[in-house]
Amino acid sequence: PLVLSDRINAMQESQTIAMAKKARALAAEGVDVISLSFGEPDFQTPQYIKDAAKKALDEGYTFYTPVPGYPELRQAICDKFRRDNQLDYLPENIVVSTGAKQALANAVLSLVNPGDEVLVFSPYWVSYEEMVRLAEGVSIPLTGTLENDYKVTAAQVEAAITPRTRLIMYSSPCNPTGAVFSRDELAALAAVVARHPHIHVLADEIYEYINFVGEHVSLAQFAEVKDQVITINGFSKGYAMTGWRVGYLAARREIAAACEKIQSQITSGTCSIAQRASIAALEGGRASADEMVAAYRRRRDLVLELVKDIPGFRTNVPSGAFYLFPDVSGVFGRTTATGETIATAADLALYLLNDAHVAAVDGAAFGAPDCLRFSTAAADNKLREAFERIRVSLAKLK
Ligand code: PLP
Repeated sequence: PLVLSDRINAMQESQTIAMAKKARALAAEGVDVISLSFGEPDFQTPQYIKDAAKKALDEGYTFYTPVPGYPELRQAICDKFRRDNQLDYLPENIVVSTGAKQALANAVLSLVNPGDEVLVFSPYWVSYEEMVRLAEGVSIPLTGTLENDYKVTAAQVEAAITPRTRLIMYSSPCNPTGAVFSRDELAALAAVVARHPHIHVLADEIYEYINFVGEHVSLAQFAEVKDQVITINGFSKGYAMTGWRVGYLAARREIAAACEKIQSQITSGTCSIAQRASIAALEGGRASADEMVAAYRRRRDLVLELVKDIPGFRTNVPSGAFYLFPDVSGVFGRTTATGETIATAADLALYLLNDAHVAAVDGAAFGAPDCLRFSTAAADNKLREAFERIRVSLAKLK
């Protein structure tokens, strides 16, 4: 008989991927599904990056790459940190991985021992919890409130720290809430972290460029905690390169070396062609991202307008990323035409998929069971149509 490991049996399938699968299955039956479940830019990768990939192939970049990434790419990442974040790193501080996802996993597996506590700012990105579980750590969610833009405060962190606390994880701009930490908020967090030198922080900045507030601050910019911070970033969102699988981290040398060690045994260096293209992406600066951000901002404003007309949905104003994360608990307790009660966000997600043919993700996957996540990385007319369908479907509930 087939016996799978306890490790894999304890792991949950990614909810965002599960919902996308259901939506695809319905679409395959010929249903006109609007899928707002996936966290993926709807833009093509900019042409100059594609051209660099073609050139790399023609120039023969087809061999194994150095485990932590090509030296030129690590240098280009250092240049980016200096230019965008006023942070000085050397190539030895940088590890390029198969997406930011692997960079996060490398860091968690390098730092967390069984039983160690990890403070995860909630709502959180789906994979954080599972990565901590894989490392046999204990994730402790710290929850922000809608009124505070879902941002966890430094005081909450201070109160949750124990001698077993090993790591803090958050994203800013945040997936799923779109919240962006201000300089003052990060200064307060840095002050707490600095008092606890045994703690490290994974600052996930993958949505750095998709920011409507203007100022992106990196926690590592606070000198007193720079060595405690591991900054995560990548190409998927800012350069619309999800399929290329390139992400990276910056950390003190010892942590970077540990991540390189894990990676050397599990995947080796990421794709040669994608890495060459990533060098070109960084050399092009952020002009292509700025164009996409203008569209994301317009769509954010559009969905905020549309969601106002939906009774039972309450939302913060996302400052970045490309999601809307309304609290939908106002709908709980109502019943469908066929007599089923909508008791949870998961029930509502299923109802909306089947009745409105709109796919969203249950907030429980992000630690927020009162919420639904809608991706706003879709064409304006799709967003209009989706929220109109949702309005109509909800109006049918008793
Ligand atoms: N971190 C956050 C907050 C994300 O939303 C995502 C992707 O959805 C990732 C990391 C992973 O990105 P990558 O495609 O680089 O693995």
